Amino acid sequence: MRRPLIAGNWKMNMTPDEAKVFIEDFKKQELDSTVEVAVIPPFVDLGIVSREISDTEIKLGAQNMCWEDNGAYTGEISPLMLKEIGVEYVIIGHSERRGYFKEDDGMLNLKMKACERHGLKPILCVGETLEEREMGLTLEKIGRELDEDLKDLSLKELVIAYEPIWAIGTGKNASPDDALYVIEFIRKKVDELLKIGEMVRILYGGSVKADNIKGFMDREGIDGALVGGASLKVNEFTRIVNFKE
Ligand code: PGA
Repeated sequence: MRRPLIAGNWKMNMTPDEAKVFIEDFKKQELDSTVEVAVIPPFVDLGIVSREISDTEIKLGAQNMCWEDNGAYTGEISPLMLKEIGVEYVIIGHSERRGYFKEDDGMLNLKMKACERHGLKPILCVGETLEEREMGLTLEKIGRELDEDLKDLSLKELVIAYEPIWAIGTGKNASPDDALYVIEFIRKKVDELLKIGEMVRILYGGSVKADNIKGFMDREGIDGALVGGASLKVNEFTRIVNFKE
């Protein structure tokens, strides 16, 4: 049995003061304890959020990291730093990193290896553009991303987020059936590569809201959601976590 995971990717939103106010409120909410919940704030918020959630079941994630442990990498944050402040999950290869910051699959593979080395749990993001989808290239693109990003790994705990790029921040979500179709392909592929098809949790991401989460979670095989915009309001994010109600 795979425990559902709802992870809130704050992206570049919320100052440390705002993060504190958010968490103080969020931890007062009654959250479904069968669902694993993670918040994924910007780097400078991690310390304060880590302290605020230390007496709760809420997990902490980071949005990115460097593949090296330390050294001359100006502007980067290392896996050791993340570990020390209580980070458990790290998003690797979000389409905004791949697109705006030119992170390629070779670099992402190094980051995945750094996660393995340090026992951080990667949330690896894959997904197609609208153009690729319309050309019927969705599975080919995602298959290639998985081949390259998961190369030479033997990770046992891994989360994949299927995020169609055209659905991110657009208000246009994939239908649950379309998402499931791709997610089933991903599960098979991860099983071929790492032999953990049954264990790997595969999330859907892209315009998930309180109003559409249930449609995804009703599909066996969709193990949770990576939520962007809708994770920034306590009330909305709480309703997403409590999708069973
Ligand atoms: P969104 O973002 O929920 O705002 O579409 C999802 C993501 O990028 O992880």
